[in-house]
Amino acid sequence: MKILINGIQSNLRFSSAHIIPGHSSCGFIHGHSYFVDVEIEGERAGEFEFVVDFKDVKGYTKELCNTLDHRLLIPIFNDLIEFKEFNPSEDSIDELVNSKVARFKIAGKGYSVPSEDCVFLELPYTSAEELSKYFAEKLASKLAEKYDNLTSVSVCVNEGIGQGAVYTKSLVE
Ligand SMILES: [Zn+2]
Repeated sequence: MKILINGIQSNLRFSSAHIIPGHSSCGFIHGHSYFVDVEIEGERAGEFEFVVDFKDVKGYTKELCNTLDHRLLIPIFNDLIEFKEFNPSEDSIDELVNSKVARFKIAGKGYSVPSEDCVFLELPYTSAEELSKYFAEKLASKLAEKYDNLTSVSVCVNEGIGQGAVYTKSLVE
């Protein structure tokens, strides 16, 4: 059986800025009001014969939304982002998180942003595609701590109304 949670109606939203380096229109800093739909498939189980408790799914998803809300999202594994004092293939991400300022260049343009205004993500892009994968994997591992009856977790990250990307994380071997 499958359960569905609608991000707009359940307030699973966040508003963030990002850049898609190298893209002709999305290569500039801009923002989206994102919302996150969740679909979970599994056997009904436990005292109440739930697939999963809605409260858990909404709670975990909201926590993830809150970590990204009102920040500039920076994909540290993007090939076009050159950090001044940080090397993503050698240094710990904590160095960036704990630094005062993140200094980087994209195609010759220089950026200097307070680190506390940013969320550094171990991703190549902060596209809807990558963010849906990020959410699905985080949510699946969190749910797997409590549930053993689930077969998949799908997340649709929507960049506003009318466009989103879905990623399905399987929980079966
Ligand atoms: Zn965008």
